[in-house]
Amino acid sequence: MSSARDIEAILQRAADGGRITPDEALLLYTEAPFHALGEAADAVRRRRYPDNIVTYIIDRNINYTNVCVTACKFCAFYRPPKHAEGWSHPMEEILRRCGEAVELGATQVMLQGGHHPEYGVEYYEELFSAVKRAYPQLVIHSIGPSEILHMAKVSGVSIEEAISRIKAAGLDSIAGAGAEMLPARPRAAIAPLKESGERWLEVMEIAHGLGVESTATMMMGTGETNAERIEHIRMIRDVQDRTGGFRSFIPWTYQPENNHLKGRTQATSLEYLRLIAVARLFFDNVAHLQASWLTTGKDVGQLSLHMGVDDLGSIMLEENVISSAGARHRSNLHELVRMIRSADRVPAQRDTLYRRIKVHWTPADDPTDERVVSHFSSIALPGGGAGRSLPLVDAR
Ligand code: SF4
Repeated sequence: MSSARDIEAILQRAADGGRITPDEALLLYTEAPFHALGEAADAVRRRRYPDNIVTYIIDRNINYTNVCVTACKFCAFYRPPKHAEGWSHPMEEILRRCGEAVELGATQVMLQGGHHPEYGVEYYEELFSAVKRAYPQLVIHSIGPSEILHMAKVSGVSIEEAISRIKAAGLDSIAGAGAEMLPARPRAAIAPLKESGERWLEVMEIAHGLGVESTATMMMGTGETNAERIEHIRMIRDVQDRTGGFRSFIPWTYQPENNHLKGRTQATSLEYLRLIAVARLFFDNVAHLQASWLTTGKDVGQLSLHMGVDDLGSIMLEENVISSAGARHRSNLHELVRMIRSADRVPAQRDTLYRRIKVHWTPADDPTDERVVSHFSSIALPGGGAGRSLPLVDAR
């Protein structure tokens, strides 16, 4: 039985930069008073970022195909091979979307897609090298360990070879997609055909060893226990102790529409905010913590800035995967900057490496481009989102 004094002592140690154990993290997650938890997490943020800056990035998620053989139960985006609603975008379409993103000031693209049965390493080499040739200024922060395992299998090569070849073709860093829940029980329940959590981490570890860094994510709210949530972050922290290759941790909440997990509960806002704070205290070895305003909403996104978060991610010029499952929150650049400023933080645009590109020290420094808005082209519409332009670019 732990006393309030025990909890206070753990919070103080973590706020001072000391390491907490997974058991202590679970205790904080389930029992620590909400405000004390947030204050301790925010103390960590203030120590790490004393200039009070909270960053954002301008990027676009571009989906090359929704055809996938992995059939995750929580996924509303994919279609099985030969399904009438399956689509794959030709290279010209992907490049056109990259061009629109560049016009709107994006510094990064996240190329993301299903596990197409024919897409091996060669496909990704062609994709990344074409994007780099056309837009060398764009950082390719894309795919995840699941895509790497899939392409290596299709091409019959090792993980090391797959990563080395796509890195040579232009991949800059790996997105943390596909982590979902890493512990075995909840993972098998929602993504039985996906690789194990250990394997997901093993691919990340190999990539980090080859000089390709990444982010790490977590999808919460599909029925996992509190202990499993803490086990997820424990698994990531252990790898980070060895590699240092995770730049950021990004938890988000499962969206329940249009998939095979209907009827499951979602994570509540309070569960999300508590997890955010515990993650800031637990990850003494991960530099950045990003909140997901897309899945939790802008209010919760802003509240997260008081729970240890130093990055609000992207305005996402385009996003199809999570929005297909019901995430309807949209924003624009002004609003994102306002969210940060009204939380008494200094907004700054960053690049993929978290370097500050533009710091908006005062409202007079705020961005003025009104075209930078979230634009979700849902795959539920005819054409699967194919061929449609960002309307504000076309309107000029
Ligand atoms: S989450 Fe990814 S791997 Fe799973 S079904 Fe959807 S597209 Fe396929």
